[in-house]
Amino acid sequence: ALTSKGNGPVGFDLLTEQFSKEIRKEGIQYNIMVVGRSGLGKSTFINTLFKDYDNDEGSEEVTPRPPQTTSIRSVAHVIEEKGVRVKLTITDTPGFADHVDNSECWEPIVEYICNQYESYLLEEIKPERKPYISDTRVHCLLYFVMPTGHCLKAVDVKALKRLSRFCNIIPLIAKADTLTRDELADFKKRINEDLRYHQIEIYPLYTKNEYSSEELEIIKAGIPYAVIGSDAYEEGKLIRKCSAGTAEIENPEHCDFVLLRDMLIRNEMLRLIKSTKVLFYESFRKNYL
Ligand code: GDP
Ligand code: MG
Repeated sequence: ALTSKGNGPVGFDLLTEQFSKEIRKEGIQYNIMVVGRSGLGKSTFINTLFKDYDNDEGSEEVTPRPPQTTSIRSVAHVIEEKGVRVKLTITDTPGFADHVDNSECWEPIVEYICNQYESYLLEEIKPERKPYISDTRVHCLLYFVMPTGHCLKAVDVKALKRLSRFCNIIPLIAKADTLTRDELADFKKRINEDLRYHQIEIYPLYTKNEYSSEELEIIKAGIPYAVIGSDAYEEGKLIRKCSAGTAEIENPEHCDFVLLRDMLIRNEMLRLIKSTKVLFYESFRKNYL
C-alpha cells in the first residue's frame, strides 16, 4: 500500500463516506493527462508527484489501449488507504507543440481523449457487458503554461479552447521558481483574464453549483497553479536548487504543489471523475450514438 510521506495520510478517509460499497470493492480508476511544450517540466512533475508516495508495488508502464500516437505514454500507481484502492494513471504527451507549425498540434490529444470515450462506450453498449469496464477516460488534463510572465500564447489559447470541450482542464504555470513572487501574481492574474476573455471554461467553473462559495473561492484562488518540479530530496524534503536558493516543493510559500496535489487527489478526485462522466462522456455519447 502507498502512504504519503510528507503530510501524513493521503486523506481518502475524508472521502470514504462518498464511496459506495461497489466502488470500494472494485477500486477507482483515475486518469490524469499532462500537456505542454517540451522542457516545461512535465516529466519532472510526474516524478515529483509520485515520489511523495512510498512505493511497495512499483509503478506500471501502461500502454494506452489502443495506442494512438507513439508519443502518448502512461504510468500507473496504485494508492491504497483505509480500504479504498485508487489506480492513478498519468499520461504524458511528449512532443506537443514542438514543431515549426503548431496549428492543430492539440488534435492528437483530442483524438486520444475521444478514443478513450469510444472504447468505454463500445464496452458499455455490448449486450453482455462486463461487470467492470476498464476506464481509461481522461478525468483531468493538466495544461502546462510557459513561465513567460506575459500572457497566454496564441497556441495555448487555441489548444485550451478546443481541449476544454472534451475534458476537465486545470492550467498550471510551469517552473514557477523562474518568476519572482510579484511576477507570478501578475502572471496568474493575466492568465485568468485571458481565460475569461477567450471564454475558456476550465475546471471547476461549470460545476460551480456543487460548491459552497468558500470552497469555490479557494479553488479559484489556486488557478492557475504554480508548480516547481523537484530535482533532489534533502532532509526529507522535496526540493529544487535554483538561482534564488532552494525551493521547497511542498512549502506553500514557494509554490502551489501541495494545493494542487490535495485538489487532485484528496478534494476533487471524485468530482473530476463525476464531471467527466456526466458532462463530457455523456455529450460524446449523444453525438456518437
Ligand atoms: P518535459 O519535456 O516537459 O517533460 O520537461 P522535463 O521534466 O524533462 O524538464 C526539462 C528540464 O527542465 C530539465 O532540465 C528539468 O530539470 C528542468 N525542470 C523541470 N522542472 C523544473 C522547475 O520546476 N523549475 C526549473 N527551473 N526547472 C525545471
Ligand atoms: Mg518529458
